[in-house]
Amino acid sequence: MDLMKEHEMFMRRAIEMAAKGMNSNAGGPFGAVVVKDGEIIAEGHNKVTSTNDPTAHAEMVVIREACQKLDSFQLTDCIIYTSCEPCPMCLGAIYWARPKAVFYGCDKADAKAIDFDDQFIYDELDKDMEDRQIGFKQMLRDEAVEVFDNWASKNDKTKY
Ligand SMILES: [Zn+2]
Repeated sequence: MDLMKEHEMFMRRAIEMAAKGMNSNAGGPFGAVVVKDGEIIAEGHNKVTSTNDPTAHAEMVVIREACQKLDSFQLTDCIIYTSCEPCPMCLGAIYWARPKAVFYGCDKADAKAIDFDDQFIYDELDKDMEDRQIGFKQMLRDEAVEVFDNWASKNDKTKY
């Protein structure tokens, strides 16, 4: 199969998962799959409302499942296909998981058109802490940073 056809096949599966999640009332209309070496190793959809988990976006669901299956905290050499451009949370998770590529179907303008607008989170990033919608205040840094100092000198840590 030529490469573009393969990408289309996996994206269609992500879109199918989006429809499946929506039709079963699991959550919003978002689906994703993780592929390694031409095979799907995880597939899923948004489960926010059915599991009371605000982090259960499709990408988070499949990253967790794929990492469990690979017994790894990284998605080395994996490709994520997601039915919609990732939100800031999933974007961060994708960077931490380090797949080699991401393909997306709908974009954030499409999501905004059906009332899934994540632009406000991007806007928050540009604001000072005290100007954000949710209050952030720093405290007890001296005590908290002691753990960091101990991490820096810890000999048996797993780096990532
Ligand atoms: Zn997300």
